[in-house]
Amino acid sequence: MVAANETVRGGGVRPVDAARWAMWTCVAVNLVIVEALFLSAGSGKNEVLTVAKFFGLHAALVMLFQLLLVARLPWLDRRIGMDRLTAWHRWVGFALLWTVLTHATLVVLGYATLDDAPMGRTFLALSGVPASLLGILAAAVILVVAVLSTRPLRRRLRYEVWHGAHLLLYLALGLSFVHQLQETTTFTSSAFATAYWWVLWLFAFGALLTGRVVLPLWRNAYHRFRVAAVVPESDDVVSVYITGRHLGSFPARAGQFCIWRFPGHHHWWTANPFSLSAAPDGRGLRLTARAAGSTSAGLRNVPVGSRAFVEGPYGAFTSLHRTRPGALLIAGGVGITPVRAMLEERAVGDVVVLYRVRSEADAVLLDEVRDLVVLRGGRLHLLTGRTGEGAPPFGPSSLRQLVPDIVERDVYVCGPPAMTTAVLSGLKDLQVPARQVHAERFGLA
Ligand SMILES: Cc1cc2nc3c(=O)[nH]c(=O)nc-3n(C[C@H](O)[C@H](O)[C@H](O)COP(=O)(O)OP(=O)(O)OC[C@H]3O[C@@H](n4cnc5c(N)ncnc54)[C@H](O)[C@@H]3O)c2cc1C
Repeated sequence: MVAANETVRGGGVRPVDAARWAMWTCVAVNLVIVEALFLSAGSGKNEVLTVAKFFGLHAALVMLFQLLLVARLPWLDRRIGMDRLTAWHRWVGFALLWTVLTHATLVVLGYATLDDAPMGRTFLALSGVPASLLGILAAAVILVVAVLSTRPLRRRLRYEVWHGAHLLLYLALGLSFVHQLQETTTFTSSAFATAYWWVLWLFAFGALLTGRVVLPLWRNAYHRFRVAAVVPESDDVVSVYITGRHLGSFPARAGQFCIWRFPGHHHWWTANPFSLSAAPDGRGLRLTARAAGSTSAGLRNVPVGSRAFVEGPYGAFTSLHRTRPGALLIAGGVGITPVRAMLEERAVGDVVVLYRVRSEADAVLLDEVRDLVVLRGGRLHLLTGRTGEGAPPFGPSSLRQLVPDIVERDVYVCGPPAMTTAVLSGLKDLQVPARQVHAERFGLA
């Protein structure tokens, strides 16, 4: 358990700021190096090709930054949160697309100007050069994935199709790497340039491999997670208890989630995020899931003793980000799971819980939440009703009426995306400082 004074921060640097600072410093330092490399050896055969090179170098840098954003490195993830890193990844992805397209267009234009030839013919000629062809293929893959990731198309595509296409980006990365390797002027203009690019690519690929492959495989081999019990909480909600070896060293905090697979029971590629619904105690883990689709509904039938493959823990929805002694925890529906886990931590301190459900019968884990709130000497408000019925429960006036000192508290919000957005808007109207607001949306991207 974590003690209150361990986590409530006064004037010190907030973990999220430390992580942002580290990331942007890293970006700034690399930008300076890349500008220096460009100034020292960036001139092309004409002005257009020089600008093309400028964009090419920056495309490589943006690409490597993308790898870092999706590497799921624990230090970054628990400070910034996977949701925020993924949102940045989306925008950086579109920045990458425009940088790559500008680079490619300028290369074609530059050579067309040099040879006094039409751009179409120059493009065809360039596709016959291996180094250029690799670049063209990489750009084509990035373009296709970016188009599929635009909101109108993404909404129409099955997740598996979109995700499969997204995996092609690793191919684009490999092609880009060889493309850059063969572009001797950028990679081998000096011993320093060669060493710099090698280190950067190795670091980015190493981070990705570590966070996405090595760490999950190592943790699962070490902990050997198994299903210890499956307990129905209601007709459509089930808790799965997980046991394993050395769980005391599994670095999870209350409020975090894991990505779960039950390989013997579901397809190995089926992976779903579920929060820990109990604070990790070194002996076991618990998830509590509402049946939404086939996988979550099927959890009820997972046999005791089955292997579980657990990725994580992930997420910044934890007491690591506390800034005030008092906390307001707001949950909608099954969004109570991380809130329930956080209530178990002593770090929560003076606590008020708002739990929004359609009716009391729908309130998952209600008895446990009641007991924990009593234990903490806190207050629980069960807010029943359907969306659109009566006054909005999370409008500014309702929130102020329920929690008059709301501005003095850290506010943790977890629930379906629409509810979370409504709460965040209410908090903004009440001018609760953004640094005190922490949210987890239970929506798949
Ligand atoms: C951080 C986080 C924590 C959560 N914690 C909980 C919790 O504690 N309890 C709870 O009940 N719910 C939780 N959820 C919601 C839960 O993950 C979903 O309701 C659940 O995964 C849906 O299961 P399903 O049976 O519909 O899945 P499936 O039947 O496997 O999938 C349904 C469809 O969703 C699509 N899909 C699958 N994976 C993804 C993905 N990663 N992104 C986008 N689309 C995808 C696929 O097209 C699939 O056909 C959480 C969600 C998030 C993001």
